[in-house]
Amino acid sequence: MNIHEFQAKQILARFGAPTPKGQPAATPAEAAQAFSALGVRRAVVKAQIHAGGRGKAGGVRLVNSADEARDFAANLLGKALVTHQTGPQGRVVRRVYVEAASNVARELYLAMLVDRKAECISVVASTEGGMEIEEVAARTPEKILTVALDPIIGMAPFAARRIAYALGLRDKQVGELVGLLTSMYRAFNETDASLIEVNPLVVTAEGKVLCLDAKMSFDDNALFRHPDIRELRDPNEEDPTETEAAKYDLSYVHLDGNIGCMVNGAGLAMATMDIVKYYGAEPANFLDVGGGANAEKVAAAFRILLSDKRVKGVLINIFGGIMRCDVLAEGVVEAARQVKLSLPLVVRMEGTNVERGKQILKDSGLPVIAAADMADAARQIVAAIGK
Ligand code: GDP
Ligand code: MN
Repeated sequence: MNIHEFQAKQILARFGAPTPKGQPAATPAEAAQAFSALGVRRAVVKAQIHAGGRGKAGGVRLVNSADEARDFAANLLGKALVTHQTGPQGRVVRRVYVEAASNVARELYLAMLVDRKAECISVVASTEGGMEIEEVAARTPEKILTVALDPIIGMAPFAARRIAYALGLRDKQVGELVGLLTSMYRAFNETDASLIEVNPLVVTAEGKVLCLDAKMSFDDNALFRHPDIRELRDPNEEDPTETEAAKYDLSYVHLDGNIGCMVNGAGLAMATMDIVKYYGAEPANFLDVGGGANAEKVAAAFRILLSDKRVKGVLINIFGGIMRCDVLAEGVVEAARQVKLSLPLVVRMEGTNVERGKQILKDSGLPVIAAADMADAARQIVAAIGK
């Protein structure tokens, strides 16, 4: 799960990381009030969307008065902002963040992430802040320093100092960065984050080290431990089908193909996607209905699959272990009737009550194509969509 910049900054600030003071605003009037409340001569007004590249796209501006803050907020709010990360349709700006402006002398890059290769949390730092790290990695990889943190030791002061020196920081700034990294590491661990990216981390003209931008992502599977963070979920920023799936506790990920897949078990779902690809088509989604799905959950899963207009055919692949095949069949029949299914549907099932399940599908009168095994199922659905 991702959150907005101002929320990430609030969390970082709570753990003691230096951030400029600021206030979110949902209307132009609130933006003007926020400017006045900050009591500064200059502020930045920043569009709050779950995407970067706002600076280049006109979503960030320095303002010198409450009126200017109001005008720029009026410009942004309610409109889609298109950045290189949003796709052509952009993202509607529903809030802006009004923040005390900083005198930026240097822009650096700093991130903490779950490093799967190193099997630990790593710090990524670069002197090339303000631009995309992917670009730096492609052009000047030698300018990126990655430091793997031993989970037993955590953010060791010597490692933090090494990062500070690599970033060209000296004297008092070294201590400031050590403090910042320590706060950031605590924030990362204690909130079960998967990413904290500060781009840019700046050194101000006054010599202070400050988080000027912040992005934070969290491990969805740990959100039950953080009800306060779960509250920050912004459904406007998420794929509506994924939001709907989350309501029914379904593991659903939207993909680019046209074969809707409904499977129980993550491993079987992966294998199903592989075999669809093997026979020459692309899955429209990953969908794991889980082990103990009931008819209602299956029906919801089926509706979600079919709400994707690119889906040209559906493949159901279920192993009835805890889940019984007859329950699955009932759910499918119910959902197919509700949505007046007109797409090809291939069902492969195996396991508990499989014969009863097959009978239910047969008796339903639905045009279900029964498959003998997984390969047969994949072959049949690919053939049915005419590929
Ligand atoms: P992004 O483009 O979506 O990543 O948004 P950022 O928060 O990184 O802002 C983009 C750019 O705006 C930064 O790289 C800075 O150059 C500039 N910027 C943001 N806040 C300030 C500020 O307080 N003072 C100055 N001088 N520049 C700022
Ligand atoms: Mn940025």
